[in-house]
Amino acid sequence: YRDHGHYDPHDHYVGRKVNPAAKKLIGDALRERIENIDHEFCEPGEEDTFFVADLGEVYRQHLRWKLNLPRVKPFYAVKCNPDPKLLQLLSALGNGFDCASKAEIEQVLELGVDPSRIIYAQPCKTNSYVRYVANQGVRQMTFDNSDELRKIARLFPDAELYLRILTDDSSSLCRLSLKFGASLDSTDSLLALARELGLNVVGVSFHVGSGASDPGAFLKAVQDAHVVFQQAASHGFSLKTLDVGGGFCSDSSFEEMASVLRAALDEYFPAHSGVNLIAEPGRFYASSAFTLACNVIARRTIQDEAKSEASYMLYVNDGLYGNFSSIMFDHQHPVAKILRAGGHTLYDTPAAGAVDAVGGGGIEYSIWGPTCDGIDRITESIRFPVELDVGDWLYFEDMGAYTKCSATTFNGFSNNHDVIYVCSEPGAKVLLGLH
Ligand code: PLP
Repeated sequence: YRDHGHYDPHDHYVGRKVNPAAKKLIGDALRERIENIDHEFCEPGEEDTFFVADLGEVYRQHLRWKLNLPRVKPFYAVKCNPDPKLLQLLSALGNGFDCASKAEIEQVLELGVDPSRIIYAQPCKTNSYVRYVANQGVRQMTFDNSDELRKIARLFPDAELYLRILTDDSSSLCRLSLKFGASLDSTDSLLALARELGLNVVGVSFHVGSGASDPGAFLKAVQDAHVVFQQAASHGFSLKTLDVGGGFCSDSSFEEMASVLRAALDEYFPAHSGVNLIAEPGRFYASSAFTLACNVIARRTIQDEAKSEASYMLYVNDGLYGNFSSIMFDHQHPVAKILRAGGHTLYDTPAAGAVDAVGGGGIEYSIWGPTCDGIDRITESIRFPVELDVGDWLYFEDMGAYTKCSATTFNGFSNNHDVIYVCSEPGAKVLLGLH
């Protein structure tokens, strides 16, 4: 990684938070977009919410992955954020892609990605999509039940199949094992059926749940996968790939998670076993690269008799039905910071952040989305040192995962907001052809 400069593996995470070059680029992009908007006279939509995406951050995450899990090839989970530039960079970095639908597969193929770099990682697939991937030569796909095996035998008997096994996902943000995964009680009979149907089982996959927090879940899943590799051998299959799924967070927990997984893989699937290792990370790559800016469109003053000072309800132009869908679907708690207040841009200054409720003073706000639904609340209570009003701007970091892709158009609000791209890593610029 030396050739690409900038990367210090020991303080990558901390470094990201204080990376002055990246912060400056993001700050400049935010400022440039908002400073000329005159909220008294602008056209509808000019003050719309928007993202700034730092593709350099994606590049740094990739180096971090390579350093911590050098034997595991990432197949980015497109569902997490199908942003075209993000996909372009990940493709240029040589990653594969985990797709869940025809549209995702089509989008990745249109980038010029070879079908062998795609896994259709959806154990319960649509018939017509299976016919589509058969035509496109996307052969790798997962299954976890006998009905699906019979479907594949009918529609795409040459597919390369991964048996997805059940995991303990009890400590994950988004649990998946209620819906997917074969229990170890059923794997032997599924392998027998696959053999009987003349199908080609090439690997095992698992997913410990999205946003995992217990490294032990990876260890147990790798041990179970090892058992299934042996079962498969007894049915005459020589499995060649283990897919360890997604679930990796982009915060500082990644290093611990990766270290437990790395040790488990080295023990149960050592390099000399010849087994290929792949993964399906989504949020790990996308989350920290995107910052969201929202405009304060309305304010309600709350004069509580019991309190001497007023508090405010702030209404912004994005909410739970929009890019904050991650609050509902992904159990996130995005934290607001002040981008611009009273004509001053405060991005990345001490005045931008919230103050402590105890002893920090400040003014109390709750933050609400623009729709008519009462559940559309982003923040119940936060204190800022300054008074905010209509026309001011807030920003939210780490908004790249499961946000825009699951936004709706409820109440007629757009779900397709602008993304302004910046790139804080020269290596990523080269890969993207930006100079
Ligand atoms: N692979 C599969 C099959 C998934 O269902 C998901 C998320 O739901 C992912 C990968 C990505 O998970 P994460 O974003 O937590 O890495």
